[in-house]
Order: sequence, then structure tokens, then C-alpha cells
Amino acid sequence: MKFFNTLSRSIQEFVPRDPQGNSVGLYCCGPTVHDFAHVGNFRTFVFADLVRRCLELKGFSVRHIMNITDVEDKIIRRVRENNSSLRDYTAKFESAFFEDFDALNCLRPHVTPRASEHIADIIALIEKLVARGVAYRAADGSVYFSIEKYQASGALYGRLLKLNFDHLRPGPRVSSDEYPKDAASDFALWKARVPDDGSVFWPSPWGEGRPGWHIECSAMSMKCLGPSFDLHLGGEDLVFPHHEDEIAQSEGAGGQAAGEPFVKYWLHGAHLLVEGKKMSKSLGNYFTLRDLLAKGFTGREVRYLLLTAHYRESFNFTLEGLQGARAALARMDECLGKLAEIAAGSEKAPSEPEVLRQFVDAMDDDFNVAAAWAAIFDWVRETNKQLAENLITPARAATLIAAWQKINQVLGLHTKQESEMGEKLDDSLQKLLDDRQAARKAKDFKRSDAIRDELKAKGWAIEDTPKGPRLKPLQP
Ligand SMILES: [Zn+2]
Repeated sequence: MKFFNTLSRSIQEFVPRDPQGNSVGLYCCGPTVHDFAHVGNFRTFVFADLVRRCLELKGFSVRHIMNITDVEDKIIRRVRENNSSLRDYTAKFESAFFEDFDALNCLRPHVTPRASEHIADIIALIEKLVARGVAYRAADGSVYFSIEKYQASGALYGRLLKLNFDHLRPGPRVSSDEYPKDAASDFALWKARVPDDGSVFWPSPWGEGRPGWHIECSAMSMKCLGPSFDLHLGGEDLVFPHHEDEIAQSEGAGGQAAGEPFVKYWLHGAHLLVEGKKMSKSLGNYFTLRDLLAKGFTGREVRYLLLTAHYRESFNFTLEGLQGARAALARMDECLGKLAEIAAGSEKAPSEPEVLRQFVDAMDDDFNVAAAWAAIFDWVRETNKQLAENLITPARAATLIAAWQKINQVLGLHTKQESEMGEKLDDSLQKLLDDRQAARKAKDFKRSDAIRDELKAKGWAIEDTPKGPRLKPLQP
């Protein structure tokens, strides 16, 4: 398995740090919960989900961490504007985020630490940096990371970027979380309390204040995964300053074993354009996931579309593309539905269909989704041809379905039936379905027919499948 490591700027074979070659630590920078996440944000999370699922298919045991940034410049501004408390304000967007995350069928990370709940870890890390001489307290009580002292200790600042920071003038220090890459500037680890912070502050050895955004990720990732771990993911806009600063802070604290970096592989997902342009509210091409769901698209369709683009290529996300996703999924569903009918509980043959090998090979090659989808759609076309000629035996159909299920462990595109059932049946519907099943068992067909009619009146058809009855929405 190989992929592009931003640290080496080359495609590298993946070798986990674990000497047993089994455990993998993966950290992905999570959402800043100041607003609803947009489709560009979700491109990164779907990519992280794909990486995790690929590793799991290869048999690795992945520990996936995604932080929740709930203390940050933008959030504090919104909290002030809304006259709210930090927790009240962020809780709403955090739960909306996870609703969207689930709608996209992303596997929940094993831990989702909140910055606001790791202030003590953050302060301890800053204290280490101060003690090692690479951070200093400014007159106002803020603490800054010193690029000069860090470089003087023999470390290199500018590991992820192709910029030569040696040739950059030292810039004035910066206190904001986001800043341009025109100078190697000392950046804030701890920001002294100012009136605009309102109620968002904590005590610290340097006075009241709050952490900077960059130190939060260093503290939470190392807390959950240790001072060195395998994979760190994020959008390419985070390369500088966020990830560069994370390396400086984490390695500046010196917790790593000799010769071990903070992170072995850095993976970055490219930007997303929407309707050919950079997303912006004024251009009307700014979509949150809920905007797309309100237009009648499903999380499954959005996920599919995001998965058709290679992670290192900027991708033009369009509503037309979503229509195309719907058509492509329908073609797959139809083929799989026919296979399921033929297989009907049959044992699968021991052979492994070619499409599975092609899919795994493609994903092993820097997540080459174009090759993976080409293999899948060639397979659908060929299978349809064989179906039309009645050439597929039940055992063969079962084998093909099993192969698809393995592929789908990575793609996470639940079948149409699964997603229909996934819309949780409300209790009354489930009870009717159970009652009908009981009536049929008792051979009370009058009762079972009556329940069927009642469900029909509510807009549901019962479909009896080898796995038992299930409800299917009646077509309008
Ligand atoms: Zn981060």
C-alpha cells in the first residue's frame, strides 16, 4: 500500500510504526464547530474515512482520532455576537456535524476529543516548550513559539512546505490562528485574555487566557496516540501554518524517541470547487450537507460523488454531478438487486472475482479511485450481459455479492435497500411489521392481509426476502 507523503513529497510504501505491523494511529483535524460544515469540509472527512476503511480492509487495526475544535478565533467571535456560552454555542454545531457525518456514512472515530476539555494537557505542553527554551511569555501574558530558538536547537521549521524558511525574513509575531506564509513568524500558543474573549478563558501559569488553535491539535493528538504516530490527515489548506506549527510544537517538546518524527506520514486532500468556483456564500455556490439534502439528494449520493475524485486533485463538485451519481448508483443497485434475487441464500463459491483484486490494487496505488471505479463499472457491464443471457448460477451470484460487500466495506455505499431500512422505522411501523410476521406464523392470513393494507395506506409495501420481511416505500 503506498500513498503520497507531504513530508517527503513523494509516494511512499506504507509501513506502520508498530513492529508487529498491525496497529495504526490515525489523526485527522476535525471540524471547527462555529457553523454548519460545508461540502468542502466533508471532502476531507470522507477521504479520512476512505483511508481508514482501506487500512482496515488490509487487516490493520486502526485507531482513528478526530478532534473537535471548539476554542478558536472564529468561534469566540460568534459566541460574542450571539451572546451565548461557548458550550451552548458549539454543542448545536457539533451535533449537526455528527448528523451530517453519519448521513455520509463515515465511520465514527474512536475518540473525538474537544479542545475545551483538554486545557490542562495544552498548558502542560506549553510549559514543556517554555522549559525547553523554544517558547516565551510576551509582556501581555501571551505565550509565543520562537521560530529562531527552535531553529537554533537544530530543528527545521518548514518541513511540509516547499518554501525555504531560511531565506524568509523573520516576520512580526502573529496572534491570530490563521496567517499567510510570507514570513517565519512566532505564533501564539497561549493568548492572554482580552475583553472580546467574554467568558472564554481559563487560568494558566501565564495568566488568564485561552489556547491557540495549533497547540490544541498537538496536545490532543499526542494525548490520544502518543508522541509519535503513523498518519496525520487534513485538507491542504491546513499544511501551513496549522500542520507546520503542529510539527514544531510537538517535536519542540521533545517527547519522541531518538530519530522518530512526530508523524510518519502526512496526507492532504485537495480543494473542492463548487460549480467551477471557489465556494462562497455571495456566489450562491456554498453548500452545507443539509442544503444538498434539502434539494432532495441523499448522503449516499454526495458520498459517492466525493469518492469519484482522487484526493490530491482539486475537484469540481456540481449539482449535475450529483444527478450523475444518482444514475450511477441506480445502475449498480439494479445489477446487485438481480444478483441478490438469483443468489437467494445460496452458498458462495470459493473463487474470488477479479473485480475485488482490481479494486484492492487500485486503492493500494495512492487511492487510485479512477481505476477502482473503472474496474467496478466494467464488472457491472459484464455482469449485466451475463445476467441477460442467464449465465449466472446462484453460487456465482453469491460469490459476486460477497466480493461487492468487501469492496463496499471501503466505499461505504450501503445498498439502496440498506439505506431505506436505515431510515429508522418508527416504532409503530416496526410493530405492525412484527405483528404481521406473528400473524403469518400463526397462519392468520386474514390478520396478516389486514396489516399489509394498513401499511399500504401509510405508504409502505412489504417485501418478503430470504432475510425476512422488510418495508419498502411505495413509489408516489
Ligand atoms: Zn488540527
